[in-house]
Amino acid sequence: MLNDFSFASLAGQPKVKNLLARTLGSGRMPHAYLFRGPDGVGKKFAALLTAARINCAAPDDYSGCGTCSSCRKLRSGNHPDVVIVSPDKGSIKIDRVRELCRSLSFPPYESVMRVVIIEDVHAMTTEAGNSLLKTLEEPPENNLLILTAESSRELLPTIVSRCQTLMFYGLPVGECARVIGQKLPEIGPDEARLLAELAGGSPGTALTLNNKELVGRYRAVVKVVETASAVGVDGVTPVLETAAALAALKEDLPLMLGLLRMWVRDLMTEGDHIEIDIQKRRLAALDRAQRQLDRNCNRTLVSEVLLFNLQSPVAEVF
Ligand SMILES: [Zn+2]
Repeated sequence: MLNDFSFASLAGQPKVKNLLARTLGSGRMPHAYLFRGPDGVGKKFAALLTAARINCAAPDDYSGCGTCSSCRKLRSGNHPDVVIVSPDKGSIKIDRVRELCRSLSFPPYESVMRVVIIEDVHAMTTEAGNSLLKTLEEPPENNLLILTAESSRELLPTIVSRCQTLMFYGLPVGECARVIGQKLPEIGPDEARLLAELAGGSPGTALTLNNKELVGRYRAVVKVVETASAVGVDGVTPVLETAAALAALKEDLPLMLGLLRMWVRDLMTEGDHIEIDIQKRRLAALDRAQRQLDRNCNRTLVSEVLLFNLQSPVAEVF
C-alpha cells in the first residue's frame, strides 16, 4: 500500500509538505485534518505518509523509516492502528461512522496514536456527516483524523469548520508529465505531456485516462467532429459511428465529456468573437449532454445529438 515513506516522493504540493514537516517536527498536531483537492494528486498518499511518520520507531527527519515494525505493517496494509474508511458503493453511511466512532473510544492497540483516514468525505450522507461531528470536535485521546475530499464537491460546513484544511492542487504540467513518465516509461514525452494537460495536472487522473485508452478515443472524436464540420452532410455516417463508440464508453462517458470540454475551452482562447460564440454553443451542448446523462437518458441518443451539435453548433436543439 505504501512503498516509499518519504514525503519527498509526494510530487508537487510544496505548501502541504512544508506545513506537515513543521507540524510533525513539533509534535503539535490538530485533532483533525481535511486534505482537500482534485482527485489523483496525492491526498491519500500524504495521509498515509503522515500516519507512517507519527508511529515510526525511528523517523528520519519528517518521514517514516520504512523498516521498523510500524512502517512494515503499514506497508503491508495491516496496521492495527491505521484505520481507513472509504465509500462503499458510492457513499459512506451512518452505520459505518457510528461503528468507527465507537471503536475510537478504545485506546490504540500498540501505537502512540491511532490514525483514522476517512476518504472522500464528500460521499458521506448528511446523517453520517452529522454523526461524525462530535468525534471530530473532540476526538478521544490518541486519535488523529485525516479526512480527504474532492475540492469541487460540497461538504457540510460543520465538518469543514472542525478540521484544519490543507489544500492540494493539480501539478504544473511539466511536473505532472515527469511523474507520468516515471509511472508509464513505455509512453513518450509528448504523450505524457498531453495526458498531463488533459488530466489538469493530476497524475492519478492521467493514469486513469491512459488505462482506459481515452486519449486515443478523444482524438478520434475530435477528428470526426472537425472533418464533419468541413464536409457537411457527407459526414453523417462517421458521426453516427462515433456516437455509437461514445455510447459504448458507458460510465466513462462523462470523463470523455470532460476531455471534450477542455478541447473546446482551448479553441475559445484562440479565436475571434465569432469563434468564441461557436465554442460557447459547443460548451452548452456538452453541459446539456451531461444533464441528460444524469437523468439516465439513452446514451446513444445523447451522444448522437451531442456530436451533431458539436459539428454544427446551434443555439438549442432540445
Ligand atoms: Zn519506521
